[in-house]
Amino acid sequence: MLRFASLASGSGGNCLIAEVRASAGATRVLIDCGLKLTETERRLERLGVAPAAVTGILVTHEHGDHASGVFDFAAAHRVAVYLTHGTLAAMRQEGKVTDGVRIVIVDGRQSVAVGDIQVHPFTVPHDSREPVQYVVSDGASRLGVLTDIGTPTAHVAACLARCDALVLECNHDLDMLWSGAYPKWLKQRIAGPFGHLDNGGAEQLLAALDRSRLRHVIAAHLSQQNNRPELARAALARAMGCEADWIGLATQDEGFGWREA
Ligand SMILES: [Zn+2]
Ligand SMILES: [Zn+2]
Repeated sequence: MLRFASLASGSGGNCLIAEVRASAGATRVLIDCGLKLTETERRLERLGVAPAAVTGILVTHEHGDHASGVFDFAAAHRVAVYLTHGTLAAMRQEGKVTDGVRIVIVDGRQSVAVGDIQVHPFTVPHDSREPVQYVVSDGASRLGVLTDIGTPTAHVAACLARCDALVLECNHDLDMLWSGAYPKWLKQRIAGPFGHLDNGGAEQLLAALDRSRLRHVIAAHLSQQNNRPELARAALARAMGCEADWIGLATQDEGFGWREA
């Protein structure tokens, strides 16, 4: 059984947990850890997970909202860190890598097993060194997580096909972004091909996917300045042909509670 929850989602910090229970015990991975150590521990305990019961952290890229807490948590709880060569190099340059932590290099072409969880990294266009996003599976159900992507690609759509659950970036509403208070360079970066996915882009991507198995769709990484939950939900609901309140929401303060994929 694969279940998942979010500790936090947004530019203030991202962290998601996926858990697979098998007869031999449970495997748990975090996808990103962009919260302070004590905050990560507090939110894990809120979900009923002892921090030491985490098996590994899958890192998508080096941006602080995804990676700032990775090595503190890994060192404190003896957890392995999975990341690409490029992400590791960028984090080394910033002095964010702690000695003594077990590191496993991943890339966008090869799947890797973490205990009973099958991990499929895939490459995405985003303004970081070597970003990936992840599909995780227990062999029966698949959870796809996609945030921090400037442009949906055919490769991404193929990787996310036939997922049972999707956590999908709805970063901004384009009109709110362009009419908002951000400086022009930042607006261009966010809306650019290596920036973030807007509600309309997320809707188009979702509409183009093989959704035949999809039972959970959750809007994630919403900008607090440039988006509103009801806009993100409405966009994904249009792609699904469902009611807007069926679409889940990952929030900055709460994430979302456990769901079974
Ligand atoms: Zn981010
Ligand atoms: Zn990013």
